[in-house]
Amino acid sequence: MDSFLLGMKLATMFLLRYFLFAGIAFSFFYIVFQKTFQKHKIQQKQAKGIDFRREIFYSVVTNLIFVAIALFVEFGPLAKYSQMYQDIDDFPLWYLPVSVILALIIHDTYFYWMHRFLHIEPFYSRMHKTHHLSTNPSPFASFAFHAGESVLEALIILILIFIMPIHLYAILAFTTSSLLINVYGHLGYEIMPKWFRQTKLFEVLNTSVHHNMHHQYFKGNYGLYFRFWDRLMGTENPTYVKHYEEVLANRDQD
Ligand SMILES: [Zn+2]
Ligand SMILES: [Zn+2]
Repeated sequence: MDSFLLGMKLATMFLLRYFLFAGIAFSFFYIVFQKTFQKHKIQQKQAKGIDFRREIFYSVVTNLIFVAIALFVEFGPLAKYSQMYQDIDDFPLWYLPVSVILALIIHDTYFYWMHRFLHIEPFYSRMHKTHHLSTNPSPFASFAFHAGESVLEALIILILIFIMPIHLYAILAFTTSSLLINVYGHLGYEIMPKWFRQTKLFEVLNTSVHHNMHHQYFKGNYGLYFRFWDRLMGTENPTYVKHYEEVLANRDQD
């Protein structure tokens, strides 16, 4: 497939995926059931239309930058170092889900340290501030990054295909899971069931409250999928667990 055709195909797929996931979540929580769920919101105040439009604009640009990086990976000078495989029989079938989980763990580590770096000046003011314009994020903020940060975000794909064999489908599953988790992290509502707090998973996984606090307070809770790095480096907001319990108590009171 030539680069133009592949670019068009990827742009359509990435944008459809973004608008489908963020759009469904937004329609459900911010339009159709907005009144029903209002008191369940993590932050009671409502973001404005101008905030949603800004989040969509930056996310569309980010998706197009992801396409450009994907084309660079496929056709650029580094393509020969790629370990991405397309024949499913090249590795055992069990490796497919394992590689997706490995990708999420590697991405979480990469993201945590990149995110810490982006909070240092001048990188914060020049780049990461764009994402933090959403102090009360909506699902549309999932990819709302400055172009420079979008490139840094996309670099994870290059890192993954250079350090481990990964099937094209595993990359699709990884990037789709990542987007879904990002939509959840920026949802503005906590949707985890009540029992989740009592499980070991709560100790390990991030929640929507976790990332919402990063947007509200600008500091702490830098992790993407897991609490591991924040807990190890002492950067988790010390009021996180208490706040999570308050949000759930408020949500489940009737
Ligand atoms: Zn940040
Ligand atoms: Zn965010």
